[in-house]
Amino acid sequence: MVIYKFGGASVKDAEGVKNHRNILISHKEGRVIVISAFGKTTNKLEEITDAIYKKDQVRFNDRFRELKNYHHSIIKELFKGHEAVYEEVEYIFNAINRAFPEPWKHYDHLYDQIVSLGEILSTKIICAYLKHQHLNCQWIDIRENLITDDVYREASVDWESSQNRVSRNLVPTGSEILITQGFIGGTYDGVSTTLGREGSDYSAAILANILEAEKMIIWKDVPGVMNADPRYFQDASKLEKISFQEAIELAYYGAKILHPKTIKPLQNKKIPLYVKSFLEPGNKGTLIGEYNRYDEDKPIYILKKDQILISVLPRDFSFVFEETLSKIYSLFAKYRIKINLMQHSAINFTFCADMKNPYVFQLIEDLKEDYKVLYNTGLELLTIRHYTEQIIREVLKDRHILVEQRSRNTAQFLMEVQY
Ligand code: ASP
Repeated sequence: MVIYKFGGASVKDAEGVKNHRNILISHKEGRVIVISAFGKTTNKLEEITDAIYKKDQVRFNDRFRELKNYHHSIIKELFKGHEAVYEEVEYIFNAINRAFPEPWKHYDHLYDQIVSLGEILSTKIICAYLKHQHLNCQWIDIRENLITDDVYREASVDWESSQNRVSRNLVPTGSEILITQGFIGGTYDGVSTTLGREGSDYSAAILANILEAEKMIIWKDVPGVMNADPRYFQDASKLEKISFQEAIELAYYGAKILHPKTIKPLQNKKIPLYVKSFLEPGNKGTLIGEYNRYDEDKPIYILKKDQILISVLPRDFSFVFEETLSKIYSLFAKYRIKINLMQHSAINFTFCADMKNPYVFQLIEDLKEDYKVLYNTGLELLTIRHYTEQIIREVLKDRHILVEQRSRNTAQFLMEVQY
């Protein structure tokens, strides 16, 4: 059995949904299809969540209307009439509307109840369309099958309970296509949760692991895994095949192509992962599998923008001891701050993190209670895997480097932005 995952970019309009159908009818075997919310719906639902929490009726009404119109315009292009799908969609939008007057105490809890509906909407519409096109498909509510704890916005999967339910309810019979949601799950008590932004790849990998899939395919708007982001590197090109290990490293260093948790469930069961273009489904894409070596002839570049460099110094210029480090680390855990680079000397501890983490300035405030804190914002972190000295010289030319770190395969440079 094969697991397919379609991301938001592949379903940003009616054409995308029609394209799904074309990809699906070209194969006859049973499949489980994991789908994200349409286009930028998750961002829009985040804004709606914010408006609900802050009781900002005007902003809520605007975003709500935009999102509803967007979904209606897709439905209108896909179906002529078909009242049933409008009713289902109306029901979901009513749930969002009803959330507005409620007194929500915990932001993250509210977030998951609202943001999870993006995937419910997209899968309901796609499944209705595929049925309308006479495909043998069934809609599955993943919130009843992928069981998680209640750490909202970053729920952890309860593998044992999920295993029981998924292996009972997500096995296609014959040529059946099961349509389900990425990114979301549910607690034992039936409360919706999410697994972290961009988490649909991870959802698909969990299902592939439990169902022992023969392979998993992620359909993207790029030809496969590229050795650099084509927006920033003119000569970016596709990698033919890479190892699970390499893919884990790439995701860890911030390559956007895969969610960092995706590879492990696949590697554990040796399930090959293909990353392919939904625009050119006949092309080979990139294969990620059980290989020993990186034998492509090109380096891989990962550029992370909007970085902040924070230096923590004891006020009395005493040494940085383990006790200080463990205090700082517990704050990282508290605010879920991922460290992208760090260095420490006798009297300071320096690290770099994403500025888009909403808690980064809260962390700085907490650190200031005990330490002197200095920081620089708006930096870029370039990671080069499989570098050579010549490559580094060429790429960095006149860049102003603030921090540099190298290991055998990886070089990282934190730099000021070049205008
Ligand atoms: N829709 C979610 C997001 O945009 C999950 C995903 O697409 O993977 O983050």
